[in-house]
Amino acid sequence: MIDNIKKLLNKSTVEEGSTDNLLYLTRCLLLFFVPHALVLGIICLLHHFTFNAACAFAVAALFVVCLVCSYRVKSFIATVSFYVLLIVYVLLFSVAFGWRSSFQLLLFAGILYLWYDITLNVRVKLLVSALVGVVICVICYMTPFGHSLLNPDGLTYRVLSYGNILYSVGCITLVALFFSTKFAETERKLYLYNRELKRISETDPLTKLPNRRFALDELHQIESNYERNGQLVSFAIGDIDFFKRVNDTYGHDAGDYVLATIAGIFKEYMEDHGFVARWGGEEFLFVFEDANGDDAYLLLDKLREKIESYSFVFNDAMIPLTITFGVEEYGPRAGIEDTISAADQKLYLGKTGGRNRVVY
Ligand code: GH3
Ligand code: MG
Ligand code: MG
Repeated sequence: MIDNIKKLLNKSTVEEGSTDNLLYLTRCLLLFFVPHALVLGIICLLHHFTFNAACAFAVAALFVVCLVCSYRVKSFIATVSFYVLLIVYVLLFSVAFGWRSSFQLLLFAGILYLWYDITLNVRVKLLVSALVGVVICVICYMTPFGHSLLNPDGLTYRVLSYGNILYSVGCITLVALFFSTKFAETERKLYLYNRELKRISETDPLTKLPNRRFALDELHQIESNYERNGQLVSFAIGDIDFFKRVNDTYGHDAGDYVLATIAGIFKEYMEDHGFVARWGGEEFLFVFEDANGDDAYLLLDKLREKIESYSFVFNDAMIPLTITFGVEEYGPRAGIEDTISAADQKLYLGKTGGRNRVVY
């Protein structure tokens, strides 16, 4: 039942697809004020204030009309209609029943409601807030010393006063609830969006491996870890042999397929040893944590054999593939850049020495 009411109040308007929180809040407030105006009308009737009773019932009807129309008109019109109606309602009954009946408090909730609207600019909001302040001052001016037009008995005053105080607290709480929910939701969206943005900026789209930017950040992290606790680490650069030939013979798509497939193999293999990143076109950087150069050498030689024996098949064509690695252990004297360029030089030695090998 409550869920159905929520769904109905949250339903989109003529502005298709808009998730209009403000409209939802406006509908909740409109619904909230209908019993208020009805009860006020009954109280007026009981005291034979016929004109005021008629006014209260008319306002209740107008709140309902506004609520119904909010499904057909733009949210801005629904918001303004509610706002004008609220001000007129409060002004009318404050003057009728006096300051002590606390109708004016409902306008404070109105100010908070106004600031919830993100479509209005701040200047308009300040202006309307000031206007509401003026309306409250007018009410104060027109009801000096608690003076009122109708002068009901003490009990009625108390009912009106406590009722309005409770209603104002309810309204303010409702608007504040919307504020906090919206704020939390925005924060969460921003967090997820930033996380996704960071992931995209650090990932190579073809191979889904971390890219060079991510690798460089990690390397600086490793450098500072080394300074702190002397953790062993080795680097290697792997470069696919004669990759240009793959593109030339089987096509660029086959080249892309090879890069994506080999990256998957690397990633899985490196899971327990450190990480691998796409360093350049068909070059990959391997980082072995807690491993000296010999450990890295052995692990890479196994990986080299794995690649050599793997069947890369693209459009029914078998693509034979080998890879050459250059390995270097990170030491306290050489910085990260020197270590990587040493690995690069060893890779070059591997290429000139016949390829399909690991050089340490
Ligand atoms: P070597 O054994 O000396 O490394 O020879 P190689 O042919 O692998 O080296 P070379 O540097 O001459 O060629 C690398 C090729 O990699 C050239 C470039 O077109 C190709 N390449 C780089 N990035 C991509 C990519 O994202 N997709 C495809 N399909 N090819 C790429
Ligand atoms: Mg290359
Ligand atoms: Mg190559």
